[in-house]
Amino acid sequence: LSDRLVETFKNLRTKGRLSASDVDGTVREIRRALLEADVALEVVKKFTADVRERALSDEVNKALNPAQQVVQIVNEELVAILGGEQRKLQFAKTPPSVIMLAGLQGSGKTTFAGKLAKKLKDDGHTPLLIAADLQRPNAVNQLQVVGEQAGATVYAPEPGNGVGDPVKVARSGVEFARQKQHDIVIIDTAGRLGVDEELMKQASKIRRATDPDEVLFVIDSLTGQDAVNTARAFQEGVDFTGVVLSKLDGDSKGGAALSVASVTGRPIIFASNGETLDALEEFHPDRMASRILDLGDVLTLIEQAQRTFDQEEAQKVAEKLAKEAFTLDDFLEQMQQVKKMGSMKKMLGMLPGMGSQMKQQLEGFDDSEIDRTEAIIRGMTPAERHNTRILNGSRRARIARGSGVTVTEVNQLVNRFEQAAKMMKKVARGESTGIPGMGTI
Ligand code: GDP
Ligand code: MG
Repeated sequence: LSDRLVETFKNLRTKGRLSASDVDGTVREIRRALLEADVALEVVKKFTADVRERALSDEVNKALNPAQQVVQIVNEELVAILGGEQRKLQFAKTPPSVIMLAGLQGSGKTTFAGKLAKKLKDDGHTPLLIAADLQRPNAVNQLQVVGEQAGATVYAPEPGNGVGDPVKVARSGVEFARQKQHDIVIIDTAGRLGVDEELMKQASKIRRATDPDEVLFVIDSLTGQDAVNTARAFQEGVDFTGVVLSKLDGDSKGGAALSVASVTGRPIIFASNGETLDALEEFHPDRMASRILDLGDVLTLIEQAQRTFDQEEAQKVAEKLAKEAFTLDDFLEQMQQVKKMGSMKKMLGMLPGMGSQMKQQLEGFDDSEIDRTEAIIRGMTPAERHNTRILNGSRRARIARGSGVTVTEVNQLVNRFEQAAKMMKKVARGESTGIPGMGTI
């Protein structure tokens, strides 16, 4: 996809509001990319419709060309659907925390149970694995194997005890954990090859019996169009608090992540990406967004464009400052700003990294002094405000009389202003101001 999008960028040089045809062209590419990543069609349709609407109504981002703007919107929307911020596992206030797994057979539940147990052990927890999949003959054994690899205790029904009841096993397993001071239990459950009513009932009973802090729905990331139906069925049948995406090490671009997150609104918490027990990652929405659309290069381009634009803007401001001398009118305006923001003293306490020299300079002010300063400046003619060099003795005396202050105070203000003006010039030229914390632009 990247190549095609980069190509689109080259053809669209004009900046400004997005036209419908600009948007449609880029949205078509996005749509194709999402389908290639195996995102379910209904999700692709809704997603591209939302992006199109936003692209046509959004504020214009002057830094970017139309195609870049669309991609930026797409990326933001993808990250938002995938959960925005990374979501951590939730624990109970009083242990044991109960984590229940649900999902189709072969989705990767048992493998994930082992991986999670290992991760939790590494983090200093004492997880207990509960074998509540009594459907397949060797399911319990499989959990025992991964439990041993992870160094975690496995709670399983006694062999030869008749047909086990998974709900009872789950409940007594949690009780066992409480007695033996395991702070977390992970309940592995049975799955079928397809969604099945009896399976849902069983899972839902286990949920009611154990009141889990997390119910994690495990889904194979290679699931294509079926992802939405499976996810909906599990949401209705058992409901879950989070999602685990398994087998992300394969060819999958992770489209299932978008499908599931979009139709269920549940956060994806882990990505499982290999057969060994440490092949487990916390899920990062932003990284997955890039992976699904292959957006890495494109996003870098967009960042560069934005940065260049910001630099150009800063340069313009600096040039303006350097060209137009800083006048007493500006000085007055600045002080009014300061006054608006509340008392000067309070502000001094708030400003981080304010240099000590600057502080000293400003500590001389208080609100009533700002008022006096204002009066003095208002007592000057526009010509005097623009050029303090014409302020001779008689002019200063006139200003002092007119604003009810002493000539010394007028002199002090003029001196202070001239210092500030010198500093502004330095800032504008990008020289060091010599004031720590102020630096250069
Ligand atoms: P369950 O039926 O839901 O318990 O699924 P399993 O944990 O038994 O996994 C089914 C198959 O998928 C096994 O062969 C696992 O080795 C494999 N598997 C599980 N997770 C991953 C993964 O993240 N990557 C790869 N490559 N294979 C996995
Ligand atoms: Mg299993």
